[in-house]
Amino acid sequence: MTKVFKFGGASVKDADSVRNVAKIIRQYAPEKLVVVVSAMGKTTNALEKVLTAWYENDERLSVYIQEVIAYHQEIISELFPERTNPVYFNTDMLFGEMEGHLSTPPSLNYDFDYDQLVCFGELISTTIISGYLANEGINCRLFDARELIRTDETWREGKVDWQSTQKLVESALSPFLESGDTSKKVALTQGFIGGTAKGATTTLGREGSDYTAAIFAHALNAAKMVVWKDVPGILNADPKFFENTFLLDHISYREAIELTYYGASVIHPKTIKPLQNKGITLCVKSFLNPDAPGTRIEPVSEDDDKTASIILKSDQTLLSFRVKDFSFIAENNLSDIFGALAQCGIRINMMQQSAISFSICFDQNNRKMDQLLRILGGKFDYRYNTGLQLITVRHYDQPTINKLLNGRPLLLEQRSRQTAQFVVKKTN
Ligand code: ASP
Ligand code: MG
Repeated sequence: MTKVFKFGGASVKDADSVRNVAKIIRQYAPEKLVVVVSAMGKTTNALEKVLTAWYENDERLSVYIQEVIAYHQEIISELFPERTNPVYFNTDMLFGEMEGHLSTPPSLNYDFDYDQLVCFGELISTTIISGYLANEGINCRLFDARELIRTDETWREGKVDWQSTQKLVESALSPFLESGDTSKKVALTQGFIGGTAKGATTTLGREGSDYTAAIFAHALNAAKMVVWKDVPGILNADPKFFENTFLLDHISYREAIELTYYGASVIHPKTIKPLQNKGITLCVKSFLNPDAPGTRIEPVSEDDDKTASIILKSDQTLLSFRVKDFSFIAENNLSDIFGALAQCGIRINMMQQSAISFSICFDQNNRKMDQLLRILGGKFDYRYNTGLQLITVRHYDQPTINKLLNGRPLLLEQRSRQTAQFVVKKTN
C-alpha cells in the first residue's frame, strides 16, 4: 500500500539535507511512496519579503530576488557538478518566470499575488529534489500539486474541494504508482500549494505542507503518513522553553487535535482530520535520526492522560469589554462581540465572562484589534494588555502548574477536567 512522506523546509535547507532526504527515501520507502516537500529552508519568508518590496516599490526588490535565486543556485551547483544536468535548465525557467512575474506591476489583490508568487518556493525545491532523486537512480516522477489539490479562490487559505481533489489525485497518481514495473516508485509533489478550477495558484496557509500530505494520504487511502522533522517527535513541551521534556511515543488523534489547537506547532492543525476520517496512522519522526521510533498518532491511545503536556503561546492580547452603563453583560452584547470578532477574523484562544465584563485572549494583531475597537468602541468600555503569554496544560496536575506559574502575575485562569489555561505576564 501507498505511504506518504512529508519533508519540511528544514529537512531540505542545503545540499547535505537533500542528500539525507534521498537516503531516507532509499532506505525507508515502501514500494509506492508519495513525497510532499516544502520550500527549502526559509524560502517562504524570503519570498514574503520579495512580495512586500514589490508592493512597496522598494528599490531593494531585485536584491531580494537575487538572494532567493543565489541561495538555490548554490544548492544546485553542490548537488549537480555536471553542468549539463537538466535541473539547471528547469530551475532557470522557474527563476525566469518568477522574475518576469515581478517585472510587471502587482494586481493590487495582495492575497492573490501572494499565492502566485510564494508558490515558487515549492516549485523550485521540488524541481531540484526530483532532479536529484532521478540522478540517484530512484524511480521518481514530479507531479504539479496545483493540478491535483483543487481549492476555491480563498487566496492564502484555499478551501479544498475534496471530491475533485480525490478524482484528480487518483487519476494522476494511480497509473504511475500502480503500474506493473516492480521498482520502488516515488511520486513527488509540492506541499502548501493548490489550484483553482480556473488554473490560478492558491496556498493552504503557512506551514500547510503537512496538510497537503494528509490530503494525499486521504485521497489514496494510504497505509501511513510520516512527517520527517528536526525534532525526535511530539514532545510534551517545547524544549526551547522548558527543561526535562520528553517524547510522547503514542497519542490519539483527539489528543493531537487538542494539542495543535492550543498551539503546539509540531504539526499543522488541519492535518489530523483527513487522516482520522480514514484511520490512517501519522508518525512524526526525526530526519536526523530516522531509526528512532518517533511519535505515533492513531485512532485511540490509552496513554493520553498519563503525561502533562504544556503549550506556550506568546504575543497574546487580553482584551476586556464592559457595557458602558455598567449593566450586566447579556446575550445581545455577546452576540455583538462575536459578530465583530468574526468580521475582523480574530480567533479566540480563550474567553471568560463575569457579571459586568467579557474577556478574550487572542494572537496579537494591531490591525485587527484597531478594526475591532472601531466597531465595538461605541458600545463598550474596554481595557487591554499586550505582550502576554497563554500557557495551556493538558492533563494537568497541581505541582506542574505551581512550577509553571511560580509567582508570575496571573491575569486570567480557566480549568476544565483535562485542560488548564493561564494568561500570564512575561517574565525575563
Ligand atoms: N513553505 C511553506 C511555509 O513555510 C509551507 C510549509 O513549510 O509547510 O509556510
Ligand atoms: Mg516551512
